[in-house]
Amino acid sequence: MKKTDHSIRNSVVATLIATLIIAIVKPMRNMAIVVFKWLWQIILAFKAHLGSTASVPWWLVYAVLAIIILLLSRAIRQALQSLATDVAKASPLSYTTDHFHGLVWRWRMDSDFQPYRISTFCPHCDMQLRPCSSGYGYSTQFHCDKCGFSSSNIEMETGQLEEWISREIQRKLRTNEWKQELPNQ
Ligand SMILES: [Zn+2]
Repeated sequence: MKKTDHSIRNSVVATLIATLIIAIVKPMRNMAIVVFKWLWQIILAFKAHLGSTASVPWWLVYAVLAIIILLLSRAIRQALQSLATDVAKASPLSYTTDHFHGLVWRWRMDSDFQPYRISTFCPHCDMQLRPCSSGYGYSTQFHCDKCGFSSSNIEMETGQLEEWISREIQRKLRTNEWKQELPNQ
């Protein structure tokens, strides 16, 4: 008896759900047809509009509009790029080159603003320079294998000099001098 009650209830529920689905699906289908027809009307109207003329042909108006949008998007992109460059330059992490002892020095900066991989370049041809300790080992001179440039004698051993450069970089960071004359990379 109870089982029969259940089956009756189940069939009623199933019928209700089916009715509900039909009730939802049919208007949705009708609505989709209406929307599609409406979109098609818009496409046709736009096509007719493109063929029509104002005082100038519409294609010219749209061509000019497309060019303006293109130029505008390019200008915005460039502005954003230069903004990003300015932001990067404002960070001490971007201070990775300078002139000391008449030579070009480049290095990498770690996240604690500690310079590392310090190297020296020719002020004339930008070739990486070769350090030569003097016979006594107190001083260092740099030679360019490309253009023959020789630096003056610097009264420090190579290791001492590199350590001095590192301290000088950190001094310029503390005093903000690095911002004043940031040479081209
Ligand atoms: Zn050189």
